[in-house]
Amino acid sequence: MKRIGVFVCHCGSNIAAVVDVKKVAEEAKSMLGVVYSTDYQYMCSEPGQDVIIKAVKEHNLNRVVVAACSPRLHEPTFRKTLENAGLNPYYVEMANLREHCSWVHPNDKEGATLKSIDLVRKAVAKVNKTVALFPGEIPVEKRCLVIGGGIAGMQTAIDVADMGYEVIILEREATIGGKMAILDKTFPTMDCSACICTPKMVDAAQHPNIKLYTLSELESVGGYVGNFEVTIRKKARYVDMVKCTGCGICEAKCPKKVESEFDYGMGKRPCIYKPFPQAVPNKPMIDPENCRKLKENKCGVCAKVCPTDAVNFEDKDELVTERFGAIVMATGYELYDWKKDFGEYGYGKYPDVIDGLQFERLVNASGPTMGKIKRPSDGEIPQDIVIIKCVGSRSTEKGKTYCSKICCMYTAKHATQILEKNPNANVYIFYMDVRTPGKMYDEFYMRAKEGYGATYLRGQVSKIYQEGKKLIVKAEDTLVGKPVEVKADMVILATAAAAVKDSSEIAQTVGFSYDKDGFFTEAHPKLRPIETNTAGVFLAGTCQGPKDIPETVSQATAAAAKVGALFSKDKMATSPMISYVDEGLCSGCGLCIPVCPYKAIELITIKERVHGGEVERQVANVNAGLCQGCGPCTVACRSGAINLRGFTNQQILAEVDAACQ
Ligand SMILES: Cc1cc2nc3c(=O)[nH]c(=O)nc-3n(C[C@H](O)[C@H](O)[C@H](O)COP(=O)(O)OP(=O)(O)OC[C@H]3O[C@@H](n4cnc5c(N)ncnc54)[C@H](O)[C@@H]3O)c2cc1C
Ligand code: SF4
Ligand code: SF4
Repeated sequence: MKRIGVFVCHCGSNIAAVVDVKKVAEEAKSMLGVVYSTDYQYMCSEPGQDVIIKAVKEHNLNRVVVAACSPRLHEPTFRKTLENAGLNPYYVEMANLREHCSWVHPNDKEGATLKSIDLVRKAVAKVNKTVALFPGEIPVEKRCLVIGGGIAGMQTAIDVADMGYEVIILEREATIGGKMAILDKTFPTMDCSACICTPKMVDAAQHPNIKLYTLSELESVGGYVGNFEVTIRKKARYVDMVKCTGCGICEAKCPKKVESEFDYGMGKRPCIYKPFPQAVPNKPMIDPENCRKLKENKCGVCAKVCPTDAVNFEDKDELVTERFGAIVMATGYELYDWKKDFGEYGYGKYPDVIDGLQFERLVNASGPTMGKIKRPSDGEIPQDIVIIKCVGSRSTEKGKTYCSKICCMYTAKHATQILEKNPNANVYIFYMDVRTPGKMYDEFYMRAKEGYGATYLRGQVSKIYQEGKKLIVKAEDTLVGKPVEVKADMVILATAAAAVKDSSEIAQTVGFSYDKDGFFTEAHPKLRPIETNTAGVFLAGTCQGPKDIPETVSQATAAAAKVGALFSKDKMATSPMISYVDEGLCSGCGLCIPVCPYKAIELITIKERVHGGEVERQVANVNAGLCQGCGPCTVACRSGAINLRGFTNQQILAEVDAACQ
């Protein structure tokens, strides 16, 4: 016999200002199985939870409906409340009166109240069919895979390794370091980026618990939280890492030079090369796309000059499979490719129109110009420099709709750097808005403007074209309402920070979701910003959205804490709200297999006794570790053989009946 209690929350005035909560509680009293009903100002607060616990005891309740906000926010809270009241935590059902009623129907109090009563009726009907559920247990492999070796990946790896767990950093470039290794100085303190980043790279490489797989990519991911099976492609490097001493003779002798990726095209590199002198590991690789030996079977100079015989043109990719308990995504960001969209800025045909990372290389003491800011076209020192913000950010027409968050600060940094090196230069910054939230950030911007004398002009640049040696920049100063024209020697575009091009593919390989722009989606934007919707997969840094270094490092450490919590136990509890197969009903058709996004279902062979004899037949089987309880299999199954615990067909039909009353 069900004895249901209904608890209607005011959520301060969030619900109660629109929904007649007293009426909802009163109506609930007449619903099937309800023996107690009340309302309270904040059900999730300690006194609110005490109201529930007291009522469970006094009225001998064995099922509970909380009519409040979204279960995404407070279902775990109320499950804990039931546990404290001595009930199975899964005996609670929530009706969402806030997001589904008061917030969406603020001007229709009566309608919102009637809808609230309907939602409570549905929850009551469902909880009438609810049975006790118990979490399962799976063992945990205490090894962590960090994908991406930028500052986010390195920080997470070092923190997890310091807790005593083994970590592998999987980095697709030949070195770890990411964008921070490319930068010159960092706002707002203007400390040298390499001085903070390169020691971190060394710490990561030398940590006894960290192994680096550079020049490596993810091939496939199987398994589930605590037990991922990951196959990694270690790409051919054509240099034996054991024999090579990193002496650099080969790099000096290689006759072919191509554009350096690390210098973003601002400098050249040979075909056997380290991305930069402080690369980690500090050994070269051969670029197979440009090496004359690998392409045309000519040259081979590097092999001839190598004193340790380390060059190996026969090297091949290698596949390795390893087990991990947790995966941290730290694949970072890249700059939006403005050249394809911005015809008005010349589609990239003017060499002196560059982006922010190219400028970082130009201003960097270890960059191609040794830190002298020279314009790329002729090496002259630019006197008049224009910086344009929001190129491809905050636009509904081209590029990205979001704010890239870092550009307001790094453009102020770039202006400061230019004016520090050449106080007589003229720096003009075209902006839509200046956004500088952060410790000492606004002060930094004000210093660039008032201390160093950068000229900020509010307005969007409509055209850039070449006239002789000058770039003509045309815009409108929207503060004075007049057109402006600047004759510039160099233009720096603060282009949007975008998701890496293949971010959606890697998210699909690992098995979690991403947003419309390709950034990885957190499980909950406020309460679970580090987790993905796949258990055991966490997020660190700019792969989740644009961030500066302090924010990236904080999130990386938070991801490490999540991994540490997961690894702190030998076994972990799994959600009981997963699918199960009634083998008696299953016809073995396998229709459920392709619809499962987590590859949790397979066909297995079972033996049955039929007419005294033993026969074999195939049935679907759900892997409890892989199943995430999303439910498409239950819809695909024509014989109704798959059911989802906590959302059984019977519960859903009871809700539909209640909704149709
Ligand atoms: C011009 C400019 C100036 C900036 N200046 C500052 C500053 O002064 N101060 C500040 O706080 N912030 C600054 N930033 C922001 C800073 O660059 C980022 O906050 C920081 O680099 C983010 O680190 P990350 O590790 O998340 O990403 P990244 O640095 O992008 O690292 C990601 C790593 O993952 C690797 N990777 C990507 N995909 C894969 C894959 N599929 N498999 C394996 N590996 C993969 C990449 O190769 C890379 O090594 C600046 C940004 C720009 C554009
Ligand atoms: S010459 Fe040989 S040992 Fe020296 S860096 Fe090149 S590959 Fe390594
Ligand atoms: S509920 Fe079904 S579809 Fe979803 S993960 Fe589990 S088995 Fe796969």
